Amino acid sequence: MSKQDRLLTARNRLFNGVDFASVEYMLERCSVKELKVGENLLQPEVDNAHLYLVLEGELTVHLVANETLRHATLHPGECAGEISLVDGKPPSALVVATQPSRVLAVPHETVWSLVDSSHAISRNLLEIIAGRMRNDNRALISSQNERAQFQRQAYVDALTGIHNRHWMKDAFPRALHRCTQSHAPTAVMVADIDHFKRVNDTYGHLVGDTTLKMVADCMAKHLRPHDLLVRYGGEEFAMLLPNTDTDEAQHVAERLRTSIAESEITNEDSKFQVTISIGIAPMHNETPIDELIGEADQALYRAKELGRNRVEIF
Ligand code: GH3
Ligand code: MG
Ligand code: MG
Repeated sequence: MSKQDRLLTARNRLFNGVDFASVEYMLERCSVKELKVGENLLQPEVDNAHLYLVLEGELTVHLVANETLRHATLHPGECAGEISLVDGKPPSALVVATQPSRVLAVPHETVWSLVDSSHAISRNLLEIIAGRMRNDNRALISSQNERAQFQRQAYVDALTGIHNRHWMKDAFPRALHRCTQSHAPTAVMVADIDHFKRVNDTYGHLVGDTTLKMVADCMAKHLRPHDLLVRYGGEEFAMLLPNTDTDEAQHVAERLRTSIAESEITNEDSKFQVTISIGIAPMHNETPIDELIGEADQALYRAKELGRNRVEIF
């Protein structure tokens, strides 16, 4: 081993607090391996019989399940391959050189001889493995957080920011079940923007989008905290009002209808208003949610037929 490599090896964390000169003789079967950029040091499908001490350069560790997910970066003084050293199985990750690198390949038997000869080396090796486990746990937690974030996004309508139909499939039956159990009156409502096609045709699709957002905001603002609201279709919204009898539901629906009819939407130098029609279906005899939605739809259809901007009860 050259003088320079000896110095770099002695600085590796495996030899922290170790009198390097006293163990150096055990390293005679080690060899220096040179890696070009992009070259693999460890691959999950290839058995590994060495612990690698990074002397120079930089390598990255990638998780097996996802090669694009960079998991850790290794610099001089660090090690690779310590997990397969302990369990004798192929590497758990892919390790690739991201800079021209040099590593010292220490055969497994040599590592075990080093461990037998020095408590400090054993402790260092344990620390290295513990660090790798911590890193794995961190990656696991952050990927779980990411998944939860994706799930949240999957339940929310990107345009209006309210829940979507996907969320409704879970949330509505659950809420309905709770109300049925407690014998509380419940109402389901479906609202649809009147002549919305005209808004798009007159002002363009972008203004149509803004209008949809305004209507959703207005509805969310005028519902009560325990009411459920979703964007059910293009310009349709579905609501579930727990603990609400028919009179109360009609009251809530009228409040939504008038507040939207009174809101002005400004577009460049013109102002306009939109109205909504609402159909209400009061719950009766443990009716399933789909049936209630169908009934609310029928009431909505009647509201449209009777001239729009109005509330009808099934
Ligand atoms: P009605 O009073 O009978 O409900 O008439 P309408 O024009 O509202 O009904 P129709 O079903 O004919 O048209 C609905 C329109 O809603 C057509 C579609 O282009 C528009 N729409 C659906 N989703 C979106 C959206 O996300 N953004 C915009 N800008 N328009 C949408
Ligand atoms: Mg409409
Ligand atoms: Mg519609």
